[in-house]
Amino acid sequence: MVRSRDTDACPGALQVHQAADGALVRVRLPGGLVTAAQMGALARVATGFGSATLELTSRGNVQLRGVTYVATVAEAIAKAGLLPSPTHERVRNIVASPLSGRVGGNTDIRDWVDELDAAICAEPRLAGLGGRFWFSLDDGRADVSGLAADVGVHVFDDGYALTLAGRDTGIRVSDVTATLVRVALRFIEIRGKHWRITEFADLGDLGALLPGAQPGAAFSPVTTPPVGWIPQDDGRVTLGAAVPLGVLPARVADCVAAIEAPLVITPWRSLLICDLDEAVADAALRVLAPLGLVFDETSPWLRVSACTGSPGCAHSVADVRADAADALDADTAVHRHFVGCERACGSPLSGEVLVATGDGYRALRNNDVLG
Ligand code: SF4
Repeated sequence: MVRSRDTDACPGALQVHQAADGALVRVRLPGGLVTAAQMGALARVATGFGSATLELTSRGNVQLRGVTYVATVAEAIAKAGLLPSPTHERVRNIVASPLSGRVGGNTDIRDWVDELDAAICAEPRLAGLGGRFWFSLDDGRADVSGLAADVGVHVFDDGYALTLAGRDTGIRVSDVTATLVRVALRFIEIRGKHWRITEFADLGDLGALLPGAQPGAAFSPVTTPPVGWIPQDDGRVTLGAAVPLGVLPARVADCVAAIEAPLVITPWRSLLICDLDEAVADAALRVLAPLGLVFDETSPWLRVSACTGSPGCAHSVADVRADAADALDADTAVHRHFVGCERACGSPLSGEVLVATGDGYRALRNNDVLG
């Protein structure tokens, strides 16, 4: 569903959203990258000033609900190094291949995340980009290009392809950061009331954004996260943990932080705990699995998701998270996303979307892949 507004209502750490259960604070984590100390800081503010949970978003960010002292929380987030630019805090939306530099891929794109983030924050005009516009950096494994970010780069064997709305444009770029910033600036010039490139009705007119760009093949969406024991190319281990319904209790986040390993929040609302020696990985697995993190790639938790629903969202007619959990054992291989109204927040690009009616659920979308 396309929604165009004159103003950008997307929440951040400073401009918060007043939800039914209190202030909602969203913290951008470019590339989903977060240190153990930062995870610990988020767990503490969620416990002290919020609902004691961290919600992982479909863009690899974190949000806190029911926040009581917004200024205090913003101060703590800034102190943790998670608010480098007050003017650009909501536009630092970068999704990147979560395992890049550790397992597979054509190139390590982690430095690009930092460069692009710095370039976005350094360009005053990009403060007006809007909180829903996002960038993608895919290292060639085709995991995030299919998420249909507004603009991105996909690393092929023969070069770096520019993508627009999840489609290969046929353009190869050399300076990745400069090109992505240039496209974003051009979008600001021509966007009208639109906040996303995907909202342009005529995707055939990509040349308006960049001369020569053609709407080529779309990348297939990926809907399941990397889960379990993942051997890294350097002999160490990454643990991939699915987080049921993307809701990470602060006490579990605190335990994860205690491992003191680099962390990645993935756009599938899951967590990677990286660079572990085997003995540490084994011990972490034994501690975290009983706390509710899911390391089994066959778990039904990987095939179900939900929006916030009641009581956190006033638009909802049902507690969709509870209903999604109750439906966990249903015998289906299709990913199902439960939502409380037709806005269908957080819907994955493929699978079934079920909307609450007040008297059960009906299919809002049941196609395999959103066209
Ligand atoms: S889909 Fe509707 S009920 Fe669910 S979070 Fe969005 S607005 Fe709220």
